[in-house]
Amino acid sequence: MQRKKDDTPGTARRCPICGEPASFAERPFCSRRCAEIDLHRWLSDAYRVPGQAAPSDGAETAQHKPEQK
Ligand SMILES: [Zn+2]
Repeated sequence: MQRKKDDTPGTARRCPICGEPASFAERPFCSRRCAEIDLHRWLSDAYRVPGQAAPSDGAETAQHKPEQK
């Protein structure tokens, strides 16, 4: 019995964004575009740090004050 090996050297990885075979230059992504898409996703996640309130000083408290004269 012969076992069929399924190892594709180098290009085994696939782009996590679109699923295309990854490019060596932009791995693990297939292209610069997908790499930037992932970067933006990562950054938007990083900005939303749990447990840390947004540093809004004044902007929120200003809304609590009704304009009365
Ligand atoms: Zn891609």
